Amino acid sequence: MSKRIVISLASVLIGCFMLSSCAGPFIRAGKERTAKDPETTSESSKAVTSKIDKIDIPEEGCPVEFPDGEVYDYVMDLKFDPDEQTVGGHVTFTFFNDSEDPWNELCMRDYPSLFDDMNVYVLKVKDGGGITRIENITDSRTGGLEYERDPDDKSVIWIKLGKPLEAGEHMTLTYDFLTLIPTNPDRFGAAGGIYNVTNFYPILAEYVNGSWSHERYFNTGECFYSELSDYHVTIEAPEGSVFASTGEEISSVTEGGRETVKFEAPFVRDFVFSVSEFFEKKTEDIEGVKVNVFYSKDKPAQQDMTDVTDKCFDVAGTSLKAFGEAFGRYPYGELDIVLSPLKAGGMEYPNLVIITNEVCHEYISVFEPYDQLENCLCHEIGHQWFMGIVGSNSGAEPWLDESVTSYTELVYYEYLGGKVFDDHVAGYRRMDRDLTEVDRDKEREEGILEENISPYLDVPYSDFPTDLYYTAYIYDTGKAFCYQLEEACGREEFHGVLRAYVHRYAFKNATTKDFLEVLYGCVGQDNGELNRLVATMLKTRI
Ligand SMILES: [Zn+2]
Repeated sequence: MSKRIVISLASVLIGCFMLSSCAGPFIRAGKERTAKDPETTSESSKAVTSKIDKIDIPEEGCPVEFPDGEVYDYVMDLKFDPDEQTVGGHVTFTFFNDSEDPWNELCMRDYPSLFDDMNVYVLKVKDGGGITRIENITDSRTGGLEYERDPDDKSVIWIKLGKPLEAGEHMTLTYDFLTLIPTNPDRFGAAGGIYNVTNFYPILAEYVNGSWSHERYFNTGECFYSELSDYHVTIEAPEGSVFASTGEEISSVTEGGRETVKFEAPFVRDFVFSVSEFFEKKTEDIEGVKVNVFYSKDKPAQQDMTDVTDKCFDVAGTSLKAFGEAFGRYPYGELDIVLSPLKAGGMEYPNLVIITNEVCHEYISVFEPYDQLENCLCHEIGHQWFMGIVGSNSGAEPWLDESVTSYTELVYYEYLGGKVFDDHVAGYRRMDRDLTEVDRDKEREEGILEENISPYLDVPYSDFPTDLYYTAYIYDTGKAFCYQLEEACGREEFHGVLRAYVHRYAFKNATTKDFLEVLYGCVGQDNGELNRLVATMLKTRI
């Protein structure tokens, strides 16, 4: 997800400030942590206490290979009803216990039910949200099963198994569901005849280190965490519905005013779609990837969208080239860019990014040549590597997702070079920002208690005292941290580190420890500036 793009001119100034350097207020202290955490300040090299095996760096522009092994498999037969604002149907989910523990119960996530009471999570939802109906849950081995909602979090579904699923054992779970789509101009919701249908079906949670991971949903940034799967999805919808989706549309049949569309989406962590009868679609082949741009033909009314769609293709092309060289080539056949109502600037999903269609309105005439669109779109495409290809628990370690992806914006501008790069890198370099400086005035103004503030990036979302603090720290300071890692290592070397990280953890889930082992395995353990940066900003020790 990217930060909010704000439309009014006055707000844009604030937005630009947030998007550029804004150093001091949110920077944590190296010196001040001495008393609280002496182990990190006595010697910078304490970030690494064990010998790390050397890692070979893959060649620039190397392919990212799909895995050979078995993955989870969802077959979904769905019906989308725009009049009722519902989506639902039958799911056949085949999977296996990929842990070493027997599973006596399953944990599923049902995020749409949170929209039953969105006062907690979203500022404004007009109507349409509600509790997801889940029925006919069946275990292929034992028959019908019941479920319970977690009393502390209605998005958490517990299914007690009739008999344990042993390590390595397979089963097929079938269930029916009906989800209500709220009227909400956001990543899950309907607005202006466009439906963003994301995180909409009950999905298996991740089982990690002996327990099911079910971090709380939050609306700022990304918080989804699921296993790599193949998706085979059929959606019935009214004739004239135009779909953007994860994966690729493989067939569409129209009969009796209804259309039935089939999608195949291999090796992804989730399946989402956006749909509208108003969508226009433009397609270009870029770097062997079919890039589609979807936009509403009626909103904005009669506006010539050519400049906007041209810019989208330009940014997609540069992103696929820059990130493909730096991190390994985009492995999928298709990438969809959806211009749609969205409160944030953008949101990433496998093979699909949503960019707020506010960038198509009067906003662009003030800020040609679409700086915000460019910044936001390259960020969301960066997530295709750091969320899509390399997964992580973005609720527990959001920096691995959003800080690293915010840094990909600078990789994009590095690729373009010249003044545009100089403009965008200002404020992130060591010469412009000392990550050990302290300025607590802003925090005092906001009434944030010092003892409630972690000095480190690798902490859960729940450790941040406010959303503003989380956003500034994870997106902006985290971006500066990653850029300063690049400065400490050298650009080619740090790109190589990220390429090795992608190569090693492609289609798996990585942790901060995994990241550090790749970093030091690639560049060695003797770089004092690198060690100081890591010890200052990360609490993970290897
Ligand atoms: Zn993001």
